[in-house]
Amino acid sequence: MDLVELERSDLEAALTARGYPAYHARQLFAWLYRRGVGDFARMSDLPKPLRDELERSAVVSTPIVAQKDVSRDGTTKFLLKLADGRFIESVYIPETPADTFCISTQVGCAMKCAFCLTGKMGLTRNLSAGEIAGQVRVLLAETGLLGQPFNIVLMGMGEPLHNYDETMKALRILHDEHGLALPERRITLSTVGVLPALERLGNETLMPNLAISLHSTTEDQRDALVPVNRKYGLQDLVDACRAFPLKRRRRITFEYVLLEGVNDTPADARRLVTLLHGIKAKVNLIPLNEAAGIPFDRPSDERVNAFAKALADRGLTVSVRKSRGRDIRAACGQLIVDGATPSTGQRAAGLL
Ligand code: SAH
Repeated sequence: MDLVELERSDLEAALTARGYPAYHARQLFAWLYRRGVGDFARMSDLPKPLRDELERSAVVSTPIVAQKDVSRDGTTKFLLKLADGRFIESVYIPETPADTFCISTQVGCAMKCAFCLTGKMGLTRNLSAGEIAGQVRVLLAETGLLGQPFNIVLMGMGEPLHNYDETMKALRILHDEHGLALPERRITLSTVGVLPALERLGNETLMPNLAISLHSTTEDQRDALVPVNRKYGLQDLVDACRAFPLKRRRRITFEYVLLEGVNDTPADARRLVTLLHGIKAKVNLIPLNEAAGIPFDRPSDERVNAFAKALADRGLTVSVRKSRGRDIRAACGQLIVDGATPSTGQRAAGLL
């Protein structure tokens, strides 16, 4: 039994089935998540027979830090090795304004967005709930932030709504009041808009902030940039957002990667305003993070500001995402590992 794959209710059931009282699950959650301790011998408030039984029959799988790169701006990218030898990346972004962990949900990604390096990997496999929440345990230990407030964004490798069940389970584990008790307003789920899953999300009790990777204002262009649009089209996505049951005072963030001369014209800005009309929206512009093999250019700051102003002048709330960690290939769309071997200086250099 791998304890980190269990929600607290599962753990309670497993304990009672073995004849132990359910409240030991609360103690175990506190050790694993609140105190960051996975060693049963140190769990001093658990009875000795239970500790012995856990030693015999339970494990606490935790991703291993294979490599750590620190950017000039303090952003730190972690290459994490999973139990089956696969690699993923997670990123610590200090003070944006709150400390933020950017977490992966899959090894690779099946979405193949035209400007994203992770898409080039293809999808190797889904992460389990324990692997998703495990990234948070590792980053808390590595950054010394255990006990401090922090945010998580599901914006690392993978499409969270393409791994719905494990992603939501991980969020419930992280949200558990006896564990990290991560508040839902500190969680942001970013998605290309897998519509059936988006509809399911609308019915969840645990409701993260929603960010939609829109990137385009016409069906044809979005078909090309975000291929899943051929299945779940732009208009249907926007309609689903309009119908999404938002909590009080919340808004949907629409992410829009700016590609020079492609989707950053005044006409694009006007169409974007029309498209989002009537939605409690804010727009987050992401000037392209360039990389070898990505056939687009990053617009100049002037162009970015002009686009932002065109939206703001028509009443939209707009922000421009600061690219953090570009020098270590840790920024949006720059996460890529070859899945089998750790990233080495040599391999990284080949990609830059
Ligand atoms: N699969 C999720 C999370 C992905 S990453 C999603 O698509 O929403 C978070 C954001 O970074 C997405 O909006 C994604 O489209 C964007 N992104 C991808 N590649 C990028 C790049 N090269 N430059 C800037 N943003 C990029």
